[in-house]
Amino acid sequence: MIIEEKNMVGQPAQPVKPEAAQIARAKPGKNRTNYSNRTKPAIGSEWQNTFPAPKKNWKPENNLKIIPLGGCEEVGRNMTCFEYGQDIVILDMGLQFPEEDMPGIDYVIPNIEYLKGKEKNIRGVIFSHGHLDHIGAAPILLPKLGNPQIIGRPLTIEMVKHRVEDLYHGASKKLRTVYVKDLQEKMNLGAFKVSFFQVDHAIMDAMGVILETPSATVIHPGDWTIEKSPIGRKEIDYSHLARIKRPTVLMLESLGATKAKEAVTEEEMLKNLYELITGAPGRVIITTFSSQIQRIRQILEFATKINKKVALDGFSMKLNIELATKLGYIKIPKGVIISVDKAHTYPDNKVIVICTGGQGEEMAALSRIVAGNHRHVKIKKDDTVIFSSSAIPGNERSVQRLKDNLYRQSDNVYHSDIIDVHISGHSNIEGIKQMIRDVSPDYFMPVYANHYFLKEAAKIARGIGFAKDRILVPDNGSIIKFDNRGAEVQKEKAPSSYVFVDGLGVGDVGEIVLRDRQMLAEDGMFVIVAIIDKKTGRVKGSPDIISRGFVYLRESKDLLSQTRKKVIEIVDKSAGHGGAVNWTYVKDEIRNKVGDFLSTRTSRRPMILPVVIEV
Ligand SMILES: [Zn+2]
Repeated sequence: MIIEEKNMVGQPAQPVKPEAAQIARAKPGKNRTNYSNRTKPAIGSEWQNTFPAPKKNWKPENNLKIIPLGGCEEVGRNMTCFEYGQDIVILDMGLQFPEEDMPGIDYVIPNIEYLKGKEKNIRGVIFSHGHLDHIGAAPILLPKLGNPQIIGRPLTIEMVKHRVEDLYHGASKKLRTVYVKDLQEKMNLGAFKVSFFQVDHAIMDAMGVILETPSATVIHPGDWTIEKSPIGRKEIDYSHLARIKRPTVLMLESLGATKAKEAVTEEEMLKNLYELITGAPGRVIITTFSSQIQRIRQILEFATKINKKVALDGFSMKLNIELATKLGYIKIPKGVIISVDKAHTYPDNKVIVICTGGQGEEMAALSRIVAGNHRHVKIKKDDTVIFSSSAIPGNERSVQRLKDNLYRQSDNVYHSDIIDVHISGHSNIEGIKQMIRDVSPDYFMPVYANHYFLKEAAKIARGIGFAKDRILVPDNGSIIKFDNRGAEVQKEKAPSSYVFVDGLGVGDVGEIVLRDRQMLAEDGMFVIVAIIDKKTGRVKGSPDIISRGFVYLRESKDLLSQTRKKVIEIVDKSAGHGGAVNWTYVKDEIRNKVGDFLSTRTSRRPMILPVVIEV
């Protein structure tokens, strides 16, 4: 459930106390109350209700509805609808990678049933950044919603275009794109006044969004972190967000809400990478996320400096570097990149391979290298292998397996448990505290992570004195209404069940198909083909048995012959009198009784498929 306290929060018209106003205006680092030093935080005293009294012409429909359609109970399929009267703005359309109990599913996308019949109200879809958990569902969802205009920074839009083109050749021409070239740009989308702000994240061109409506102003940084000593740019100050039109709702991505470890700075991380690359006795193989364009660029610069060559391996990585180069975001030093099939022509200590696959994905470059299936690269004992990445929640096991296999082949494997060679794009606990203090919102709504992260983020907010009844923890499908009286969580919810994508099918694989797949995966299947004489109602000859994934038939002759006997008995009993026979009943009897029989003999429950042929 969604709300911490009662449903209606925020009582009308309390005057703003001077101390609250001070916090709202406080400059970074100055005059700020030090909440962490308090033994008992005075809950609710720092954040005052700044709502105006209900206006005389207040109408119930004058409200802002926030509806997270995905991303509030998992990592991925991030998508939020903002609705004010007849206007809808959408933020992000992400995908979620399948979980272990979703055999055969390619990915999961947000459920858009809530938007059915409201397509004409959609004023625009804003993409906060180009990660797949924010743009991956766009090729499927945009056409279903009548191709509304899409808004994002150049790299993000280019990535959406590529994704669309990849899935549906030619479809990117239909996209109506609005490039946010300058973050100072503002735009009106129906009743929404939209503006943007700079955030730090693990991909270039990430941006935060401000959606101002007459009822409330939403501040949504998308995915974010606070980089303390960034290279080549200034540290981002978020305190300007405290000065925008109130009441404000801070919707905060909270994936780092359990990270107590002090954040590594970009400077330290790059220094470590540089030292490892410089001191490597043989080749260096670095795996990182394909969207880590900045880091790849840094490595290219290091390589140039110390006269090494770099081979990039991984389709998406090469594509992203190409896009960023085309947009003029990065400049690749001349002559540093070589193709991976030429790597062996250079001395080992002159070669760096940057590749995808740090999540243990089977088909990605690193997995193929480790498995010995890569055409041009095989691991050697004195290779240095660096994971400049972290396991995405859910991938821990495949990453562990990959590391095990790597440690068998190389003596020099480095990852962030040993040495800081990666920084996360998601802020830790300290950063979340800082963000809440700097923005000083009227409402706090943790989003974009599993439920327990959202709850932890709520705890962090309470720990620094944020009023409990101003914290909203949404579920997927929650409808949270803001009007002049405060925030209200609606009883009804928008549909948010999984929509599975499998091959070309979207949403056609449902619960039932999935349950069958799980059953097949667990105990296999068992097909019984019985030919039955119409006149006598008896089985002709011996029933055929076909089985997959249940037992090895050749070694189970006894079990099979007993099963055949059982089938003959069941058919005799249920149809043996001849004449009009209820064949559905006969099949059900075979299914149930053979199922019970196999279960008592093997303690397994394969899927049983009886096929009855009358002759
Ligand atoms: Zn992201």
